[in-house]
Amino acid sequence: MSLNCEETFRRFQDYIDRELSEEEMRLVREHLESCGMCAEEYLFEDRVLRHIRKFLADNEVPADLSERVFGALDRDSGV
Ligand SMILES: [Zn+2]
Repeated sequence: MSLNCEETFRRFQDYIDRELSEEEMRLVREHLESCGMCAEEYLFEDRVLRHIRKFLADNEVPADLSERVFGALDRDSGV
C-alpha cells in the first residue's frame, strides 16, 4: 500500500504533530521521499506551522484564539 499526493497532503498536519500511527508515518515519509512536489509542500507547511506556533507561544495568545487559528488551518488544508 502507498499513498497518493492527496492522501499525503491530508496527513501533513498530523505528520508534523507526529499524531499518525507508525505505519502511516512511514507511508507519508515514503511518499515524500519519492515525490518532489509533496516534499516541497511539506517543507512549506512545516515552516508555516512552526512559525505560527512560535508566534502563539511568544505572544501568549489565549487558547481559544489559537484553537480558532488551527481550526481555520484545518479547514484550508481539507482540499
Ligand atoms: Zn506527491
